[in-house]
Amino acid sequence: MDGPVAPESGTPSSRPTSTPVGSGPAGSSAVADAARTGRGPVRTCIGCRRRGERSDLVRLVALGPATVVVDERRSAPGRGGWLHPQHSCLELALRRGTVARALRLQPPVDTTAVASWMALNGVPAAGT
Ligand SMILES: [Zn+2]
Repeated sequence: MDGPVAPESGTPSSRPTSTPVGSGPAGSSAVADAARTGRGPVRTCIGCRRRGERSDLVRLVALGPATVVVDERRSAPGRGGWLHPQHSCLELALRRGTVARALRLQPPVDTTAVASWMALNGVPAAGT
């Protein structure tokens, strides 16, 4: 009678694992769906709330306490809001009050400069 054969319980796995696993952030998934859309940075239009590539939207910034202008360089300091260069999106944003909210302004805000910027840049007029 032979003794019970001691099962070889695997080779001692003493590989140096130099990758820390399991330390991912557990509570921050706010940007999960906005990330990984593929190319380029993506912004959400404050009017229609649709996402678009950064280059497809214009950035709005506050100029003074209640005036909103287009930040043509998209790099002005301070808070900015992103909008499709469309009158309909501007109207939506105004109606929903998202312009003021995005820029931390007290409504009502003056967006005539934005509208005229659109006119200057060949954006067709709203409606019709
Ligand atoms: Zn839009």
